Amino acid sequence: MIVILKPKTSKKQVEEVAREVQKLGYTPHPIFGELQTVIAAIGDERTHHTLESLTVFPQVERVLPVQKRYKTVSRESKSEDTVVDVDGIKIGGGNFVIMAGPCSVESEEQLISTARAVKARGAKILRGGAYKPRTSPYEFQGLGREGLRILAAAKQETGLKIITEVLSERDVEHVCEFADVLQVGARNAQNFQLLIECAKSRKPVLLKRGMSERIEEWLLAAEYILSQGNPNVLLCERGIRTFETYTRNTLDLAAVAIAKKESHLPVIVDPSQGCGRADLVPILCRGAVAVGADGLLIEVHPFPAEALSDGQQQIDFNVFSQLISELEPFLNTTKRKLL
Ligand code: PEP
Ligand code: MN
Repeated sequence: MIVILKPKTSKKQVEEVAREVQKLGYTPHPIFGELQTVIAAIGDERTHHTLESLTVFPQVERVLPVQKRYKTVSRESKSEDTVVDVDGIKIGGGNFVIMAGPCSVESEEQLISTARAVKARGAKILRGGAYKPRTSPYEFQGLGREGLRILAAAKQETGLKIITEVLSERDVEHVCEFADVLQVGARNAQNFQLLIECAKSRKPVLLKRGMSERIEEWLLAAEYILSQGNPNVLLCERGIRTFETYTRNTLDLAAVAIAKKESHLPVIVDPSQGCGRADLVPILCRGAVAVGADGLLIEVHPFPAEALSDGQQQIDFNVFSQLISELEPFLNTTKRKLL
């Protein structure tokens, strides 16, 4: 870290701060400038106490961190792409995956017809929420255990792997009996106890970005999972909340490109929550592939108008089919192979 001292700081005051830097485990190297002095504090910032509290000294102007706060998720710690193996489906490192299915599991007929349709068009993983995080307690909350049973039936029937959301620590164990990938939703993106429980399960985890989460915070949330010994994390950009009203969220494709640079983890894009509009989903899928995403998580419903959640953003089988057929040139451009 760099400790910047105020102009006209006396030598004695410099020494006072340097002693404190030393006490906190860093080696201080004062650099005396013409007008101002800075102290370079040498030491690993990720394992030592932060020096930001030194601003309580009246002679300290600012403290600047030098290192990134995340360690194991960073490209610096591992330069090659991580490939997350979902029971034989290897995501990342050039392999592109389509995950698709309804927002919520509503009935056996709805889920199985969707599973068949998305499988026929190349999806490898079936999505569907059994536990739904809804803004209002009066809205459909998901079928719970019955939803998980239906997901298992769809898997049995089609062989598709299953991704479903886990809402609380309490549910991790039994959701794991049905899920091949645990989805941690935007509303739980920084529920650290839940992240730790998911990590301990050793299942692959798809970690959504929180609606007002900075990229650094998103990567630090992933760090919670990796630091618990579970390297199988899929980052998922799903739009952030901005002042815009034409879309439900603002899909941040720059964040995808940044996450790919900063981290070795695969990055998935969810265009459905990302814009909240079925008409934009195909266009955003192409954008996601073009910026280097490793997969898509798309909401597909047999009759979006009748959906019990997120009807406005779900696409039907025909639109899904058309969308997939249009992706190829974009996959070629970014050297992605459709799984
Ligand atoms: C969903 O995938 O249906 C969902 C609730 O996602 P998010 O957590 O991104 O809002
Ligand atoms: Mn949804």
